[in-house]
Amino acid sequence: MLADALRTVIDFPKPGIQFKDITPILRDARLLREAVDVLAAPFRAVGVTHVAGMEARGFMLGAALALELGAGFIPIRKWGKLPWNTHSETYALEYGTDHLEIHQDAAGPGDRVLIHDDVIATGGTARAARALVERTGATPVGFSFLIELGFLDGRALLGDALPIEHAILV
Ligand code: AMP
Repeated sequence: MLADALRTVIDFPKPGIQFKDITPILRDARLLREAVDVLAAPFRAVGVTHVAGMEARGFMLGAALALELGAGFIPIRKWGKLPWNTHSETYALEYGTDHLEIHQDAAGPGDRVLIHDDVIATGGTARAARALVERTGATPVGFSFLIELGFLDGRALLGDALPIEHAILV
């Protein structure tokens, strides 16, 4: 089972964080298949043209999910990593701020983009990703997370306009 394979590492990368380590799922062919199937299921019939995944762990299953849905993949990266013209969003962290970027030509009007990351915690990263997708002119169609940290209620930050799906609820 996916939830049983998830490894929680206490105090990583700093004291107080319970890090959700997805590598035991990634390394197991059967669990990797199951994860992609569960993530794809709610979005098979909504005409997804692209999956946008956040650096870095959102790249791993995001690209597999794109293949499964017959969609393209868009990397959303930390500031200064993308080589072409970008849109940039600043968002709040627990302490300070961070920046995410997308290529301006990653998608456009008529494209339907599913946003994927490994974990939703406070929801700030996912909200910034949605804003970036919107700035390309494309339409965000939903959020897909391998793990939702329910106790942090990140989905409240995302509102209820789009479906928010998880494979594992913690
Ligand atoms: P947030 O913006 O607070 O929703 O944080 C989500 C981002 O931080 C995702 O890109 C996750 O990869 C990472 N993240 C936050 N909390 C955890 C956690 N407990 N374990 C692993 N990754 C996390």
